[in-house]
Amino acid sequence: MDKQTEFVLRAMEERDVRFVRLWFTDVLGYLKSVAIAPAELEGAFAEGIGFDGSAIQGFTRVYEADMVAHPDPATFQLLPWRGTTQGTARMFCDIRLPDGSPAFADPRYVLKRALRKAADMGFTFYTHPEIEFYLFKEPVVPGEPPIPVDQGGYFDHTTANAGTDFRRHAITLLEQMGISVEFSHHEGGPGQQEIDLRYADALMTADNIMTFRVVIKEVAAMKNMFASFMPKPLENHPGSGMHTHVSLFEGDSNAFYDASAEYNLSKIGRQFIAGLLRHAAEISAVTNQFVNSYKRLAAGSEAPRYICWGQNNRSALVRVPMFKPSKGASARVELRSIDSAANPYLAYALVLSAGLAGIENEYELPEGAEDDVWTLTERQRQSLGIKPLPRSLDTAITLMENSELAAETLGEHVFDFVLRNKRVEYEAYRSQVTPWELRTSLPAL
Ligand code: GLN
Ligand code: MG
Ligand code: MG
Ligand code: MG
Repeated sequence: MDKQTEFVLRAMEERDVRFVRLWFTDVLGYLKSVAIAPAELEGAFAEGIGFDGSAIQGFTRVYEADMVAHPDPATFQLLPWRGTTQGTARMFCDIRLPDGSPAFADPRYVLKRALRKAADMGFTFYTHPEIEFYLFKEPVVPGEPPIPVDQGGYFDHTTANAGTDFRRHAITLLEQMGISVEFSHHEGGPGQQEIDLRYADALMTADNIMTFRVVIKEVAAMKNMFASFMPKPLENHPGSGMHTHVSLFEGDSNAFYDASAEYNLSKIGRQFIAGLLRHAAEISAVTNQFVNSYKRLAAGSEAPRYICWGQNNRSALVRVPMFKPSKGASARVELRSIDSAANPYLAYALVLSAGLAGIENEYELPEGAEDDVWTLTERQRQSLGIKPLPRSLDTAITLMENSELAAETLGEHVFDFVLRNKRVEYEAYRSQVTPWELRTSLPAL
């Protein structure tokens, strides 16, 4: 038994834990959970806990349904809202087949495989997500526009602002679970909040994002609110993005930093950005995986629509934040397309692969765009070589179908499942007759 496993078993006794929740994530990014009694834990570490994979979105076909969840002891944490005595702990799991081989459908495995590739090239991949979400009044009625809990705007702080109290409560719980929060504030829309997690390696970040979603939903329920990570819940207000700051480290040194280069951005940094730009459209069906995701992108409001980069250009897909030379270690680039409803494991695996492709193939970084690309005409954008991100899930699917990078990174199983699932979603949407059509076409035709 290794040290971490011993630590968990000891903590279970000392902390008087009543249930252990084993967490894993399906292909679309929904959290799955099974609770086991403390007495089962030793067995779970040794042999895993079996479950029916065919009942999980994207996991298996029925004839190969048996799957085994193996808890990762490094992720052991108590759920602070379940109390300190007779409490509940959780661990993330790796999913394997009965013969011990990794399950190709496990998003955590997809990310681990991409991280291994980075490690083979000498890199560690760090991510720092800025997670936006809305708080609505209960009851939220499906099919009706939701009602925000406050009327605040960007960076507002008022005593009447329900979000302030909410964020304080949520951040306290996150920190009790070992998740450090760097910034938090009211975002641009009424009821919209943003909480930014401290950077960590991408696997830990992805686990943290899954935990974050649970904590936010829990705190909202305690306060009789509904928290939503839907990319664009309100027609006339900004959507919820999950901008992610990314960097590569070689040992202790930041591979994006070069004090003698323009913007202090190293050649590796430039190639990484070039990779993000070149592959952004074909990975969009994962970074922006719902029909609704494209309504956020269409609306602008600092959500990117065009594939370009710039320093401190908030309309660009990739932004290079200014950093002081004294802070070389914080050199990073911000990718602004990912939304708050993405599967973080798959999204980060693809983002990493896109960037690494730029390094491997030495892509040339196109000229930066310091203009507001929204205000340019179509022709100006064309002459600058600035292409749009996909305008719909339909386009995104078609681009991904032809993407070798996506097929290779996701693996055949996940790649096929995502494409099939997204096609079904788009076809269901396409056959809708919307209130907008009834409002605009019916009276006139
Ligand atoms: N909500 C915007 C988006 O969807 C971002 C706004 C901001 O962080 N400045 O990406
Ligand atoms: Mg922010
Ligand atoms: Mg923001
Ligand atoms: Mg940002």
